[in-house]
Amino acid sequence: MTLDFEPSEQGYGRAMAVFAHPDDAEWGCSGTASRWASENWEVIYVVCTDGSKGTNNRSISSEELSDTRHKEQIKAGEIIGLKDVVFLDYPDGYLEPNLELRRDITREIRKYKPGILICHYPMRSLDGPYQGSGHPDHIAAGEAALSAVFPSARDHLTFPELLDEGLEPWAVKEVWIMGHPSPDVFVDISLEFEKSVSALLAHKSQMSMTDAEVKAHLIEWKQSRAHGQGMKYAETFKRLKY
Ligand SMILES: [Zn+2]
Repeated sequence: MTLDFEPSEQGYGRAMAVFAHPDDAEWGCSGTASRWASENWEVIYVVCTDGSKGTNNRSISSEELSDTRHKEQIKAGEIIGLKDVVFLDYPDGYLEPNLELRRDITREIRKYKPGILICHYPMRSLDGPYQGSGHPDHIAAGEAALSAVFPSARDHLTFPELLDEGLEPWAVKEVWIMGHPSPDVFVDISLEFEKSVSALLAHKSQMSMTDAEVKAHLIEWKQSRAHGQGMKYAETFKRLKY
């Protein structure tokens, strides 16, 4: 499908991606985020963890690694044209879909009022192309984001401390799930592809491959998403309407 709505529709024109680690969005939705940003949407990234664990380099501390990952994510966000990047800074590798995380995501939803929220597939897929995969942080971030959308962000009596912060309820209109085994939204990102490559390459500390290998990997991945859709490169999502 193509995007069948206009930014002028109430609530659209603003989108938020909630994900576990710096670079997750660059693999899953940066082309879509770039496309929206180029159409003057306000796009926000919410990064749940501090990115402090994923390295084989034993000479670097968690603090140094986290600092580098923050800077890389901000640079990627600048390339895409994001309005903002929010870091919730939960410890990398230990994320749980608990009430604290749900409240923190709810806070950002109420603050930025997205019409569409993108998040991880909140389950461990045992079948299909993602068989057995699923980082526990991704699963936790996906579950917490969905629970924040409904009902926490919408209901004023949930997390009343957010009302005290001046944050009124907000009803997200759609959630788009990354990594769903049966996607029903195919976003043509062909015009945004080079920008999404540059944004991914901003995450230098996470790359064990050369830039050319990273690009080749992304070409293969986003071409596979476009298969049968008459597009060169695509990103795919499962769309939930509220
Ligand atoms: Zn990740």
